[in-house]
Amino acid sequence: MPDAAVAARSSETTNSGTTQQVDVAVVGAGFAGLYLLHKLRKAGFSVVVIEEAGDVGGTWYWNRYPGARCDIQTIDYSYTFDPELDRAWTWSEKYATQPEILRYFNFVADRYDLRRDIRFDTKVKAANWDDTRERWQLATDNGPSISCRYYIMATGCLSAPKPPEIDGVKDFKGAVYFTGRWPHDGVDLTGKRVAVIGTGSSGIQSIPLIAEQAAHLTVFQRTPNFALPAHNGAPPDDRKSYFETDRAAYREQARWSLAGVPYPQETAVSWQLSDAERRERFEKAWAAGDLVHILTQLWADQAVDFDGNALIGKLIHEKIHAVVKDGETAAALSPHDHPFGAKRPCLDTNYYATYNRPNVTLVNLRQEPIKAITASGIVTDKRSVGVDVIVFATGFDAMTGAIMAVHPITGRAGKSLSNVWAQGPQTYLGLTVAGFPNLFMITGPGSPSVLSNMAVSIEQHVDWVVDRLAALRDTGFTTMEATETAQAGWAQHMADCSTLTLHRLANTWYTGANVPGKVQGLMPYTGGVGPYRSICNEVVGRGMLGFKLTGPNVAEQCNDGEVVRLQPDVRLVLGMLAEMNLPQIESLGSQGARDFLTEFNKGRPAGRPVGEVGSGALQGADGPLPYRLYRPATPGPHPIVVYFHGGGWVLGDELSDDPFCRDLCRRSGMIVVSVGYRHAPEHRFPAAAEDGYAATSWIADHVAELGGRPGPLLVAGWSAGANIATVTCQLARDRGGPQIAGQLLVCPVTDCRYDRQSYADNAVGYFLTRALMFWFWDIYCSPADRTDPRASPLRGNLANLPPAFVATCEFDPLRDEGIEYAEALATAGVPVEQLQARGHIHSSLVMVDVVITGVSARAKMAEALRGFAGLPRKLETSGEDAAPIAVNAAAG
Ligand SMILES: Cc1cc2nc3c(=O)[nH]c(=O)nc-3n(C[C@H](O)[C@H](O)[C@H](O)COP(=O)(O)OP(=O)(O)OC[C@H]3O[C@@H](n4cnc5c(N)ncnc54)[C@H](O)[C@@H]3O)c2cc1C
Repeated sequence: MPDAAVAARSSETTNSGTTQQVDVAVVGAGFAGLYLLHKLRKAGFSVVVIEEAGDVGGTWYWNRYPGARCDIQTIDYSYTFDPELDRAWTWSEKYATQPEILRYFNFVADRYDLRRDIRFDTKVKAANWDDTRERWQLATDNGPSISCRYYIMATGCLSAPKPPEIDGVKDFKGAVYFTGRWPHDGVDLTGKRVAVIGTGSSGIQSIPLIAEQAAHLTVFQRTPNFALPAHNGAPPDDRKSYFETDRAAYREQARWSLAGVPYPQETAVSWQLSDAERRERFEKAWAAGDLVHILTQLWADQAVDFDGNALIGKLIHEKIHAVVKDGETAAALSPHDHPFGAKRPCLDTNYYATYNRPNVTLVNLRQEPIKAITASGIVTDKRSVGVDVIVFATGFDAMTGAIMAVHPITGRAGKSLSNVWAQGPQTYLGLTVAGFPNLFMITGPGSPSVLSNMAVSIEQHVDWVVDRLAALRDTGFTTMEATETAQAGWAQHMADCSTLTLHRLANTWYTGANVPGKVQGLMPYTGGVGPYRSICNEVVGRGMLGFKLTGPNVAEQCNDGEVVRLQPDVRLVLGMLAEMNLPQIESLGSQGARDFLTEFNKGRPAGRPVGEVGSGALQGADGPLPYRLYRPATPGPHPIVVYFHGGGWVLGDELSDDPFCRDLCRRSGMIVVSVGYRHAPEHRFPAAAEDGYAATSWIADHVAELGGRPGPLLVAGWSAGANIATVTCQLARDRGGPQIAGQLLVCPVTDCRYDRQSYADNAVGYFLTRALMFWFWDIYCSPADRTDPRASPLRGNLANLPPAFVATCEFDPLRDEGIEYAEALATAGVPVEQLQARGHIHSSLVMVDVVITGVSARAKMAEALRGFAGLPRKLETSGEDAAPIAVNAAAG
């Protein structure tokens, strides 16, 4: 059916009495509402859009302040759903102005004849779910109320301006303007004394232009923001040519990217780059004038690691001081209270240089808070500033403001959304709320929304929602509602994601901190646009997981559950591995598997620097063995940790867990000696176990030579290495030494039984498979030997062993034998600390700087080692080297 015919049929609505009856009511005629209307019509639904404004455009209808522009390149900030529309419009600038963007929305509205289904100048005041009729009833302030099956709030994340918090605004006799509600016919500020309150994006965009007009401009700044030069002009050639060469590929890459703009994932980490290399990258980004470039393309750890991030902050501070002539003003403009990118940085044109103008003054509200607004101006602790005009650039009650302004929204059993969200917004996927059937939000809290190119996120949300409504209709269902389990799971996943980035370390409008009294918590989804899209798709692929569907003539369907139980970065790693289509390790033969591992490890981030790395040979059970020693940068002597690598007694060597050894060394402040013990099949059981014991004995005899602290050693290991570590403890007890003060066992192999639940639950799909464990055991140890405690330490005598820290991972075949070992140690009277890492796989905790969500576990492991060594559990952090890790650990 041609589009026009579909539209004509689907837009039929009926007014019964004073109620307009439609299939779907959409609130908002901005980017989201317009696309919703078009897509819903095409899908054959009758639709009405309610819009408070007098015309289309949403954000771009309201925000007409001087200098208003987008800060995502307009080539990317456009609709992509219709390739013909995409070709029909060409942007004149890299960052289009508000008038041009508004012209674009008018063009779109005309092209698809959208206005005839939009009720302008109408506000939705309240919404009520009628359980009997299974419809939403919407009350409006203009014209008939609405009865609809589906209620979609496309009310905008940044559409509810935040009211001023300052006493006396009403007493002010001059003119007051809000950037978010700027008069349509403009404002002439020529010759006026103007105050701008607020230095967020709107302030930073408007201040240079206001300064050009005003007799004097006084800027009242509470929190400085990072601002970068936009270098506006024609769209840059590199992006344009990529775009023009293959528009479809360009758009598709954006859809699966992290921020909704097609940039590759940067892989070089900051500590691999020299100062000069980092500066070169920074200068290039600064010159590019592209927010997403500088936020993602400097180095891989810039958004996830405090240390890597702080490097950028310093470089930007230098830039500010280079431009702003007055040192005190430059210092006040330099942000120090949040990591770069944790709050949305701004793009500017001449912002910092504006403070060199004689007619501009900066008032630092941190030093002199505003006391009051009077009839003639603004009074701070230190001065009184007479002004004719006040411009409030104080931002928005973001993400929830416009939703909560519709009050009440009453769902099933009279539940009010404001009560349900009293402790902060709860959603499933940021799109739906349990207890509120058939209610959808576009870019709601819990979706990537403001942390992305919103054009891409909005299209994804709209496509997903409308496709679901069409599928419901086609299968006879009439209601769709998130379950409490799914919603709680999403909250957990959101919390897990929030440990991935540094957003949690800043008080921002992302967290609600800009609105007094608002419950604080990170509202947008920090897991990225591409991962989010794949999760939404997975919900559908798994039979509408987490939704209850009902209909008059169909059996109710409720496929309950949590869509993501893995840690977000673990999910990404597994997804990448699946895409690589790797061979099954056990099919490669032992040498092939070793070669594979060596190649595989080349792709991981380099380990972080430690004080010194050395290597040598020590005496094993049957000849010399290589070792690698990691020494902290702090003055010694340090306690020594003897470390045994993982690899199923078949793979790996003293170098193969290098990043983890470095991490342990840095976090614990101890020497780590990684031992290259012998492997099967060349050397089968008990070679590895006996080497472990012999190596520990040798190290104990050479502590001074190694620069270690005299006294007992510590042992540690991962996987088969943890097996060797704990076997060493048993042998040391039985053979009269050496003395061991504690054992760190990470995902240990402790037994040869495969009938525990974790072997069934995690047999495949989590990298270490059941088949691979079978293979390792077969190569290492004959069935007859497997019950020997040197192979299966769980079967040995566990009394009088050193205190232990046992870490296990939820999605690991070895999980239950690790837990059982910890419990058995405790039963035998050994002090044990357990860490059961939720959402992690067998290799998570050793994948340093890849699985970021493993940071807190790694910090706890290091603390445990320090405790065993009789040191304060927390490492004294001084200097750049250690402090950032402590920040991550505390928050993780
Ligand atoms: C100055 C500024 C610059 C921005 N630049 C960018 C950028 O470069 N890139 C980017 O990705 N994002 C940017 N954004 C975010 C921007 O909000 C989104 O990109 C996008 O425009 C949001 O579209 P929307 O349709 O979801 O919401 P909006 O455009 O906010 O539209 C929501 C509409 O709903 C209406 N509404 C709300 N409540 C009711 C009600 N109860 N009854 C009736 N109508 C109601 C409002 O009047 C509004 O028109 C910017 C935001 C601002 C403020």
